[in-house]
Amino acid sequence: MLARANSLWPLTFGLACCAIEMLSSGCARFDLSRFGAEVFRPSPRQSDVMIVAGTINKKMLPAVKILYDQMPEPKWVIAMGNCAISGGPFAYPGQYNVVEGADTFLPVDVYIPGCPPRPEALIEGLLELEEKITGKRRWPRVKPETMVKG
Ligand code: SF4
Repeated sequence: MLARANSLWPLTFGLACCAIEMLSSGCARFDLSRFGAEVFRPSPRQSDVMIVAGTINKKMLPAVKILYDQMPEPKWVIAMGNCAISGGPFAYPGQYNVVEGADTFLPVDVYIPGCPPRPEALIEGLLELEEKITGKRRWPRVKPETMVKG
């Protein structure tokens, strides 16, 4: 389980603007491969973790559910961004086309707030998921008081 947690393979798919930040996390500046989770797979059958990045329209819900169902166990879900957490800016009385949270139909393990969350936040979310899987924190937490400002 330790080896699996330290090399999570996310499913390649994105739903809206948060997916751009997810893509950025794999590029040179943020370099997700430092944390072992950069091997985005083109097939759900090869994936460990689904990163729900973006707005889930009701029209897309069945496709997202099918992708999740096709992933082998054990598998995990990250809700990335306010839309995936709660519908974000599209959740208001009378709206009719947006799912108000991935956890209404998927077992979400980690929530990453933001509109959109930055790539660093996604990396932190993956570290949180690793900790949830293994019970241990692999990297130290950054304390706000030690962060460089400006
Ligand atoms: S949370 Fe914000 S950035 Fe992310 S998909 Fe929704 S509107 Fe776009």
